Amino acid sequence: MSNDFIKLAYNDVMTGTLNKKALETYCAFVTEKMQPERVSTIIFDVDDFKSYNDHYSHMKGDEALKRIAESVAAVLEGDDWYLFRFGGEEFVALLPDVEAGEACRIAGELLGAVRAVAIAREDLPDKSIVTASFEVACGSTKELSDLSVITKADRQLYVGKNGGKDCVAANDVIYNFSPNK
Ligand code: GH3
Ligand code: MG
Ligand code: MG
Repeated sequence: MSNDFIKLAYNDVMTGTLNKKALETYCAFVTEKMQPERVSTIIFDVDDFKSYNDHYSHMKGDEALKRIAESVAAVLEGDDWYLFRFGGEEFVALLPDVEAGEACRIAGELLGAVRAVAIAREDLPDKSIVTASFEVACGSTKELSDLSVITKADRQLYVGKNGGKDCVAANDVIYNFSPNK
């Protein structure tokens, strides 16, 4: 099998991240080969992205997603962690052997990476840049094998979105990582 074929099979062409199929394969790899005690999951979802698309066009939206994904992936890369596109404007990172507290700190760094891209927006009165909401959960290898740790993180989405967005949510607590909030 050629490298090009493998890239095509596992990469998300638009954002340059890994795709959902790669996420499933990585979950199996971590479960069967690495077998860590604990694994953390960080999911993020771009805030108010429908409005951004409606105002600036879907093509500009694609560009914004790509820049955000690149900035977040660059932070993870240094530690051999991967970023996967989970669906539309949602991405996920799996951190084997990382506890919840440390995962929250890392999610804060990723939140900073999205803010640092500073994609300007004027479609909403209370926002000047594109932001994202992060959800963190930690679980056992078993919770990774049946993907329930990902579902657990996904449930925190509502906590972050209802809590004002542009934040990290874990265990129903919101962290803003900003002195202004
Ligand atoms: P929230 O803050 O609650 O996440 O609001 P939202 O508007 O981001 O959420 P919603 O689920 O209503 O809309 C998601 C939007 O993301 C709508 C969809 O068009 C956009 N989207 C999903 N995938 C892509 C993509 O690949 N490219 C572009 N440009 N937009 C996308
Ligand atoms: Mg979404
Ligand atoms: Mg969204």
